[in-house]
Amino acid sequence: MKRQRVQKKNKVGAVLLSLALLGATACGREEDRETTAEAMTKAESTTAAETTTATVESTTAVGEVTTAEETTSEIVATTTEEVAPKAETTTAVEITTIAEVTTQVPETEAPTAEYISAYHGEYGSAGTLTGTTVVVSIVTNDRYTHWGFTNGGDALAEDDLETLRRQKDYLLQACEWLTEQAAGYDKSADFIADWERYPGLYYEYDTADELVRYDGSMYTTQKDFILENIPSDALKKKYRADNIVYIFYFNTPLENEVNPWSLGNVASPICDIEFINAFVRFDGFYSMPTTYAHEMLHCFGAYDLYYASYGIPQEYVDYLRELGCLDIMYCTFDSEDILVTMGQLDAYYVGLTDVCEDVELWNLVRAQTMQ
Ligand SMILES: [Zn+2]
Repeated sequence: MKRQRVQKKNKVGAVLLSLALLGATACGREEDRETTAEAMTKAESTTAAETTTATVESTTAVGEVTTAEETTSEIVATTTEEVAPKAETTTAVEITTIAEVTTQVPETEAPTAEYISAYHGEYGSAGTLTGTTVVVSIVTNDRYTHWGFTNGGDALAEDDLETLRRQKDYLLQACEWLTEQAAGYDKSADFIADWERYPGLYYEYDTADELVRYDGSMYTTQKDFILENIPSDALKKKYRADNIVYIFYFNTPLENEVNPWSLGNVASPICDIEFINAFVRFDGFYSMPTTYAHEMLHCFGAYDLYYASYGIPQEYVDYLRELGCLDIMYCTFDSEDILVTMGQLDAYYVGLTDVCEDVELWNLVRAQTMQ
C-alpha cells in the first residue's frame, strides 16, 4: 500500500517550533507544500506557553537553549513542581531496570585484534556516513506507552514482538538504502543493526518519565540511560565500528500525534550521544523505512529542509517547494518502499562529498565536517 500523506499543518508547525527552540532536528514525515510557513507562524502565536515550559526544562538538559521565556519565574516554579516527583519515581524504576538489562545483555567479548577507528568522535557518536555503524535498539516503556515486557523479565507479547520485528525490517531497509546512497559517492557505509542476528544490540528500558514528547527536554535522561547501561565502546570494538546510533522505540498508538525525531551533534555540541526517538505509530500510520532513513541521516549531520531553521533560510525552503523537491529531508511518503531521493546537499551534510553548489548559492549552513 502506498499512500502519500497529508500533513496536519498546525500540529506539525508546533512540533517544528518546539524542536527548533530546543536545537533539535525536527522530523516531520511529510510536507504540506502550501502551508508550512503559515503553520510556523500559527505555531509561534499559539504555542508560546507549552514551548516555554519545555524550554525551561531543556535548559539544564540540553544546555544551549536560551530564550527570553527562561526568566518567567511563574513557569519555572510550575515546572519544578512537576519535575521533582517524576525524578524520584524514575530513579526507583531505573535501578530495577538497570539490573535487569545488565543480566539480559549478551557479553561483548573482546575482539581478537582490537579495532581502532580513525573517527575520534568530534561530531558526536555518529560522524560521517562512512565506515561501519552500530545501531543499538532500546525498546522503551515510558509513563504513558508500554510494550508487553516487565522488569521481571517476561518476554514481549506476540503482537508486540511482531510490531517490533516489522519496525526492525524497516530499519534494516533504511540502512540498506543508506549503504546504496554512500556507494553512489564511492564511499562505504555498513550497518550492524539486526538485534536478532548480532548480540548486544537489544535493550529494554522501563521508566516512569514521560518521553513521548515534541521536544528534546529529556535528552539528558535518555543519554544517561545509554551511558549507564550500554557498553558502547565494547560494541564498537566488537563490531569494528566507527559510529554508533541509538534508537528508542515507543509503542505509541495510532492516535499519537508526536512525530519521530532525533537529536544529535548538529543541534548542539552537548548532544554528543546521537539518538532517535521512534514513535512506532503516529498520525494514524506506522513509522516506515523512509522514517528511519530520514532520522539516521540527522544523526550523521543532515538538516531538515522542509522548514526554515538555523542555516536553512526560508528562501531555500520556498525554492525546494517550487522545484517539487523529493529529497528525503524535505518530504517522505507513507510507503514500504523508499520513494524519495538523497540530494547532493544531504550527501554534503553527512560527509559523502565536500562539494555542494547550493551551500554557496543560498548561503546555507556548512557541513559539520567543514566548520
Ligand atoms: Zn527531520
